[in-house]
Amino acid sequence: MRAVVFPRPGAFEVADVPRPEPGPGQVLVRVRACMICATDKKILDGRFAGTRFPIVPGHEMAGEVVGTDRRVGVEVHVGCGTCDRCREGLYNLCLNYGRRETGHAHIGFTIDGGLAEYAAIPASALHDLPAHVSFEEGAWTDNLGVALWALERGRIAAGDRVVVIGPGAIGLCASQLARALGAACVTLVGHAGARLERARPFADEVLDEAQVEARAGTADLVVEFAGTAQAARDALRLARRGGRVVLGGATGQGVELSGVDLSTIVRGHLDVMGSVANPKGVSGRALTVLARGGVDVRPLITHRFPLDRFADAWATFLERRDGAIRVMLLPGEN
Ligand SMILES: [Zn+2]
Ligand SMILES: [Zn+2]
Repeated sequence: MRAVVFPRPGAFEVADVPRPEPGPGQVLVRVRACMICATDKKILDGRFAGTRFPIVPGHEMAGEVVGTDRRVGVEVHVGCGTCDRCREGLYNLCLNYGRRETGHAHIGFTIDGGLAEYAAIPASALHDLPAHVSFEEGAWTDNLGVALWALERGRIAAGDRVVVIGPGAIGLCASQLARALGAACVTLVGHAGARLERARPFADEVLDEAQVEARAGTADLVVEFAGTAQAARDALRLARRGGRVVLGGATGQGVELSGVDLSTIVRGHLDVMGSVANPKGVSGRALTVLARGGVDVRPLITHRFPLDRFADAWATFLERRDGAIRVMLLPGEN
């Protein structure tokens, strides 16, 4: 079969490789849609400790289970199921991370993923796609779960004034989900420019960073998916006293937070939380919101390529050509 392969850090190719054989608890999925994201760049650069090369990347994916008519989206984290965190349902925090022999899998990170015609996927990672949800929409299964989990971490409530920092793919899912969950007002914050302009339909208002100060202390809930120290400072600044702040952007090491007066948190009586990935089948509930029209991911898919044109897709995404948000690879199409 054709697959994108990262043979070693810094190198990629589209190659003919053997079709994977599902192991215990796994099923063979014919991949119909798979996107690329900034995390794939971290993997390629060798900055992801759990990855062993060569690897087939790809984790934002949907397809059909071979030999059935099941159409499925894939959730990225699979826990061992027996460690203390997995037993709490927090399998995204599995204590056996990267140890395949325990059953743990991080799809496209520690086991081969979906930038291929076929992938062997643990059955526990699959979510059935609701009727009328396309494969391209289903490829958002994990992203929608990430966004919904951050909002739920922040105890979103109907009537909340919500701010989302970071107008990328996950932020635009979060802003739409916040609306669907009854937020009174959703504000998106980002760098002024084409990408922020593209975000306008997905929020009630859009602010660039220079406008943050005027809104200090006004948000019931702030969710951050930008990953910079400035975004975290803005998030703390925007929350009202007694408000909630969820930081979800800085998933890699190396971003330090300075310049925060701790009284902002203490006297501000803030709940400040980190959020990574999504546990507890949140992705499945997010798909239900999608199926009911609460979220529309189709406008966020800005480019499409057949798998063999991965190099073009990769450059389009990395260079944000034409304001690229998500670039879709379509295995099996030419
Ligand atoms: Zn991703
Ligand atoms: Zn575990």
